[in-house]
Amino acid sequence: MKIILLGAPGSGKGTIAKRISQDYSIPQISTGDLFRAIVKEENEFARKIKEILASGSLVPDEITIKMLKDRIEKEDCKNGYILDGFPRSIPQAEALKKIAQIDTVLLVDLPFDTIIERLSSRRTCPNCSEIYSTAKYAGDTCLKCGHKIIQRDDDKPEAIKHRLEVYEKTTAPLINFYSDRLFKVSNDREIDETYRSVKAFLDKAGEE
Ligand code: ADP
Ligand code: ZN
Repeated sequence: MKIILLGAPGSGKGTIAKRISQDYSIPQISTGDLFRAIVKEENEFARKIKEILASGSLVPDEITIKMLKDRIEKEDCKNGYILDGFPRSIPQAEALKKIAQIDTVLLVDLPFDTIIERLSSRRTCPNCSEIYSTAKYAGDTCLKCGHKIIQRDDDKPEAIKHRLEVYEKTTAPLINFYSDRLFKVSNDREIDETYRSVKAFLDKAGEE
């Protein structure tokens, strides 16, 4: 099963990707997480990526596509995977077409004002990438691994605005690109409920 998760930043696609990954035993490939891992290194390239991420712009396609290609060629991807954050542009989707046959595209939908609220209150564990909301959890350490949780640079107001603009302009056209295999799910409700719809869809698709 090869799945793409589409959706604006903050729509909840990462959380849904994690659950699919556990339930169906296929790896979640988050290009954002891969970049954040690169940023931890200390070299010129890492500094360049760090700057791009903090601004909320996209990393150039050449770098992103190469990184993704190397990742999906690994052994753990042979039974499928979930792409979380890739493709993010038509050129990336064209490149992907040449290296993989995607079965399903899930679009996680959420109104922009809700997204802004959720991103502003989002905290992330830099160690295991678990997500928290200040609205639901007042602590400052990760419940999974004990690491101190942080606010990502790109979850600060200026970067949020820019990321949503990039999404509208560059990523949203993918909705049409994949219209022949798109399943749209609204996440304007509890995540458990959203995930139930997703799972029902995937189970049915798996039977066909
Ligand atoms: P979110 O979906 O919440 O914006 P991600 O973790 O998916 O967060 O991505 C964080 C950042 O990583 C993006 O803003 C961008 O700079 C970079 N990035 C992730 N995926 C891609 C991609 N496919 N192409 C270019 N840049 C990417
Ligand atoms: Zn953690």
